[in-house]
Amino acid sequence: MYIYYIGIGSNLGDREGYLAFAVSELTNTDGVRSVNHSSWIETPPWGPVEQGPFLNGILKVEATLTPLVMLDTILHIERLAGRQREIHWGPRTLDLDIVWIEDEADQCVQVNTANLVVPHPYFWERIFVLEPLQEIYPQFIYQGVSIHNRLEELRAIES
Ligand code: AMP
Repeated sequence: MYIYYIGIGSNLGDREGYLAFAVSELTNTDGVRSVNHSSWIETPPWGPVEQGPFLNGILKVEATLTPLVMLDTILHIERLAGRQREIHWGPRTLDLDIVWIEDEADQCVQVNTANLVVPHPYFWERIFVLEPLQEIYPQFIYQGVSIHNRLEELRAIES
């Protein structure tokens, strides 16, 4: 059994509908025991492409699926949501990223393959990931730093 923390975002069309769609698809996937999620937060777009604001959150998914099978599952759900990959960093109906994985003993599971890198390489830099992660996993600590302190650091850098 694994616990997956999955970043979710949408900035195109019925954003809330796409997030709800992903929750429902994951809930109905064989091998998934439970799906919980943070609040959805609205965040400004980032990167070089001009686009609308995102609705972001974190899903907490308990599942027997191995990490690579979970990756296939979320890529499939993105495709079902009609995600186009024409513009790199551009607007998207649904974006799902595996941020963090733990095993049954609450140990971090690391993955380093050509298709999947976990912990997600940028998660610790992004307020829009850490804010909802803190809501759903307030005791989270990474490299000896609490998520609360990390968010304070990032907010100080931003302001
Ligand atoms: P993006 O479109 O920017 O979300 O990138 C999707 C691609 O990133 C996928 O095809 C994956 O193979 C790759 N990838 C690498 N690490 C991860 C991860 N932790 N979660 C999701 N996708 C990942």
